[in-house]
Amino acid sequence: MNPSYPFDPELHEPGTDAASGRCSYHLSDAGRGEADECAGEAVVSFRDSGATWQSGCARALERLVERGEIEPLGQGA
Ligand SMILES: [Zn+2]
Repeated sequence: MNPSYPFDPELHEPGTDAASGRCSYHLSDAGRGEADECAGEAVVSFRDSGATWQSGCARALERLVERGEIEPLGQGA
Protein backbone atom coordinates (compact mmCIF):
# COMPACT_ATOMS: atom_id res chain seq x y z
CA MET A 1 0.00 0.00 0.00
CA ASN A 2 1.32 3.43 -0.89
CA PRO A 3 1.27 6.40 1.48
CA SER A 4 -0.96 9.36 0.70
CA TYR A 5 -0.32 13.03 1.35
CA PRO A 6 -2.49 16.14 1.37
CA PHE A 7 -2.45 17.43 -2.20
CA ASP A 8 0.70 19.40 -2.90
CA PRO A 9 1.27 20.71 -6.45
CA GLU A 10 5.02 20.82 -5.80
CA LEU A 11 5.21 17.03 -5.66
CA HIS A 12 4.05 16.83 -9.26
CA GLU A 13 5.83 17.32 -12.54
CA PRO A 14 5.32 20.96 -13.65
CA GLY A 15 2.79 21.30 -16.45
CA THR A 16 0.91 18.10 -15.64
CA ASP A 17 -2.78 17.85 -14.76
CA ALA A 18 -1.80 17.09 -11.18
CA ALA A 19 0.45 20.14 -10.87
CA SER A 20 -2.42 22.37 -11.98
CA GLY A 21 -4.71 21.00 -9.26
CA ARG A 22 -6.75 18.57 -11.34
CA CYS A 23 -7.37 14.94 -10.51
CA SER A 24 -4.83 12.95 -12.51
CA TYR A 25 -6.27 9.66 -11.27
CA HIS A 26 -9.54 10.09 -13.14
CA LEU A 27 -7.67 11.30 -16.22
CA SER A 28 -5.39 8.23 -16.20
CA ASP A 29 -6.04 4.74 -17.60
CA ALA A 30 -6.47 3.45 -14.05
CA GLY A 31 -9.36 5.78 -13.23
CA ARG A 32 -10.92 6.52 -16.58
CA GLY A 33 -13.70 3.95 -16.07
CA GLU A 34 -14.92 5.93 -13.06
CA ALA A 35 -14.33 9.36 -14.57
CA ASP A 36 -18.02 10.31 -14.26
CA GLU A 37 -17.53 10.27 -10.48
CA CYS A 38 -14.68 12.76 -10.57
CA ALA A 39 -15.05 15.68 -8.18
CA GLY A 40 -12.47 17.60 -10.21
CA GLU A 41 -10.35 19.21 -7.55
CA ALA A 42 -7.34 17.28 -6.26
CA VAL A 43 -7.23 16.67 -2.50
CA VAL A 44 -4.58 13.94 -2.30
CA SER A 45 -1.12 13.25 -3.74
CA PHE A 46 0.13 9.67 -3.92
CA ARG A 47 2.49 7.43 -5.86
CA ASP A 48 0.86 4.87 -8.12
CA SER A 49 2.08 1.29 -8.58
CA GLY A 50 4.63 2.59 -11.09
CA ALA A 51 5.99 5.08 -8.49
CA THR A 52 4.65 8.02 -10.51
CA TRP A 53 3.11 10.87 -8.53
CA GLN A 54 -0.64 11.13 -9.10
CA SER A 55 -3.28 13.43 -7.69
CA GLY A 56 -6.78 12.41 -6.74
CA CYS A 57 -10.08 14.08 -5.96
CA ALA A 58 -12.15 13.15 -2.90
CA ARG A 59 -13.87 10.31 -4.82
CA ALA A 60 -10.56 8.93 -6.08
CA LEU A 61 -9.22 8.97 -2.52
CA GLU A 62 -12.24 6.99 -1.31
CA ARG A 63 -11.94 4.40 -4.09
CA LEU A 64 -8.21 3.93 -3.74
CA VAL A 65 -8.47 3.52 0.02
CA GLU A 66 -11.36 1.04 -0.40
CA ARG A 67 -9.24 -1.02 -2.76
CA GLY A 68 -6.24 -0.88 -0.44
CA GLU A 69 -4.06 0.91 -2.98
CA ILE A 70 -3.24 3.90 -0.77
CA GLU A 71 -3.42 4.68 2.92
CA PRO A 72 -6.19 6.91 4.24
CA LEU A 73 -5.04 10.52 4.33
CA GLY A 74 -3.21 11.51 7.47
CA GLN A 75 -2.27 7.96 8.47
CA GLY A 76 1.12 7.84 6.75
CA ALA A 77 4.42 8.00 8.58
ZN1 LIG B 1 -11.21 12.49 -9.76
